[in-house]
Amino acid sequence: MLLDINTMFNLRSVIEKFSNPKIIITTHHKPDGDAMGSSLGLYNLLLNMGIDSQVITPTDYAKFLAWMPGNDKVLNFEYSASQCRKLVEQADIIFCLDFNKLSRINELGDYVQNSKAIKVLIDHHQEPQQFDYMDWWDSSACSTCELIYRMAEAENVTSYVDANVARCLYTGIMTDTGGFRYRGTNANTHRIVASLLDTGIDQTVIHEMVFDGFSEKRLKLIGFALSQRMEVLTDYNTVLIYLTAQDLLDYDVKTGDTEGLVNYGLSIEGIKFSTLIIDRSVLVKMSFRAKGEFNVNNFAKNHFSGGGHVSAAGGSSSDSIETTIARFKKALTLYENELQ
Ligand code: 5GP
Ligand code: MN
Repeated sequence: MLLDINTMFNLRSVIEKFSNPKIIITTHHKPDGDAMGSSLGLYNLLLNMGIDSQVITPTDYAKFLAWMPGNDKVLNFEYSASQCRKLVEQADIIFCLDFNKLSRINELGDYVQNSKAIKVLIDHHQEPQQFDYMDWWDSSACSTCELIYRMAEAENVTSYVDANVARCLYTGIMTDTGGFRYRGTNANTHRIVASLLDTGIDQTVIHEMVFDGFSEKRLKLIGFALSQRMEVLTDYNTVLIYLTAQDLLDYDVKTGDTEGLVNYGLSIEGIKFSTLIIDRSVLVKMSFRAKGEFNVNNFAKNHFSGGGHVSAAGGSSSDSIETTIARFKKALTLYENELQ
């Protein structure tokens, strides 16, 4: 049942059902700053409350996120599938963070679905799928990290938000708000950030960890993508950037290297919609971003079996990259008026 956030899932009452609960925290594949920040933020919060838990990611994640407190305890399903599977099967409580559909956690989704554990969805994406969970869900929240902090407030446990928790939550709020600029960032977001800074964390160091750890190749990839792989579709105020499977090889692209690339399209004056299409070989992956009213959650859902938020969403295609690009351009014609 999808509960309104005001009817509140109660962390303590769930945990107190068990004398020594086995808790799993999981998040979406190729986790981003909010996914890792909320997972490790919750992990550290529980740890400070004397409760142990295990973070499991469906896949690896970017090097620029692999520094948060507790990072060395994270299990990657890709490398430790049978161990993760056993842990999920035996779990009493599974926290599902920063995703709205079980397909977002790949194969792990089936194990989570079949597990007898109490599932708790903490998320801010549009239209979450139902899979028998309690939830702490609010699509107006700027990030899942904000929701973790608000849950700590509602439970009166903000005294357990120390610098370790704060580093994680700050990272997710900072990355999911595009550096405190996107809609959904409001006075309360800044109040939460102020409380996080009060723990004594150094936000300059966090920004450097996330944004100043590029490899030379990653910077050159951005240059290449913008000069050779960007098309401005002026009739639709849209930018399309694509990368072929060969481009990924040529630039030795690692997980996280294409993060943020789609945003460059929106920095052109008048552009309302930016799309990044990447041939990941097994699948063509797409990122959608919008400025103004254009709803990319609907676009992703209607044309590329995806979703996300109103202004930031993703999707995929099992066609070739050429066919996907052609399909994208055809779909765009349906939105000519909206994009004027
Ligand atoms: P990104 O473009 O950064 O991969 O994702 C943008 C937003 O859309 C994120 O909040 C992400 O969780 C969500 N998202 C990305 N791809 C998909 C997808 O294939 N399906 C759904 N439902 N959400 C996605
Ligand atoms: Mn998020």
